[in-house]
Amino acid sequence: MLRSCICESDMSWYKDPLFGVILLFIIIAIIGAIDFIRNRLRERRRTHSLENLKKSYEFLGIKDGVEEFLKLNQNAIPTLEFIAQAYIQSGNIQEAIKIYTSILNSTAATQGKERILYALGVAHFQAGFLQRAKNTFLEIIKNSPRDSESLLYLLRTYEKLSEYQNAIDVIDCLQEIYEQSGNIDDTKYLESLEQNRAYLRAMHLFGDDDISFEDKIAELESLRARFPRLEKSILVYYKQYNLALFWQKAQESRNIENLLDVFWRTPDTQVPIEILTNPKIIEVYRARGLIKSQVTSDIAKSSESKQSLDSINKSAVCAKFELEAVRTLRIYTRFMADLHFEYRCSECKGIFPLESHRCPTCNALLSFEVLCSVREHKDEVHYSLL
Ligand SMILES: [Zn+2]
Repeated sequence: MLRSCICESDMSWYKDPLFGVILLFIIIAIIGAIDFIRNRLRERRRTHSLENLKKSYEFLGIKDGVEEFLKLNQNAIPTLEFIAQAYIQSGNIQEAIKIYTSILNSTAATQGKERILYALGVAHFQAGFLQRAKNTFLEIIKNSPRDSESLLYLLRTYEKLSEYQNAIDVIDCLQEIYEQSGNIDDTKYLESLEQNRAYLRAMHLFGDDDISFEDKIAELESLRARFPRLEKSILVYYKQYNLALFWQKAQESRNIENLLDVFWRTPDTQVPIEILTNPKIIEVYRARGLIKSQVTSDIAKSSESKQSLDSINKSAVCAKFELEAVRTLRIYTRFMADLHFEYRCSECKGIFPLESHRCPTCNALLSFEVLCSVREHKDEVHYSLL
């Protein structure tokens, strides 16, 4: 009897409402403690990560003057940032990098460091220290995953490092951030992301040896159909690995003008004149003298009159002024005319001597148009070294 009473009193303690309240407080306290510990660990990890990044730049040395200035002046950072910007404007990016690293080394607080890290990443990118730029932007992204500006620089860095799959992953992040922002009316931005993704995929396919050539062609053709601006890069790739395929696809092109430099620089031995059907491509080789020689030899064989030769020469006139100028100069004068090529960005209208996938001035993708002019051909092989 006594035992059962003791048991009942023992068992009834958990029915007490006070016990429930105490239990609730204990659970809240435990959750709070876990959250506090987690935040402390995260902060420590972040500080440790920043310290590691700083150590990786230690070989650059710390500018004593900058360090001294930071010690003496409580509000020295804006002034130093201004000086670093002035160095960048004057092209002295190394000095700017030293200032930014000195600020990072001398400032204990992590707050405000992201701005300096971003500036340091951009300076590294501009100076061509791509691996360091990548580490810096990754450090920023680790703490601020939605920082679109850093993501855009990270994308460009990955692209320059030929890490195309990583760059595609960054585009996925940018698209997700954009879609979550709620403001999805900017179709131009989405189109630009799609175009970047297609371009990076094509670049990845060019360099991926694990994919068969047939599979690559199938995917590249699909990309070419969706994004005509990719055509030139894809055709140049075909030319390198499968000449027959290059000529087959090149003849179907709707933008022969933009391929003029590719056709013009193709050696005679790689031009299958007998299978050419596209009149614009035929015109290129007529101007270069490859097709005219055949026409003349055919006439010589058939022993037709001079009048007939003249009429054929007239019908062989090139529609493009520069090509016709080269053709005429080759036939009727002793000048060895040649075509000189330059490239104009369709976005910023800047003109460049070499073609690149991205405009060096405005960063527009595949925006180059081919410009050509007639020049006297100079045989550089026989140039004097003096
Ligand atoms: Zn441009």
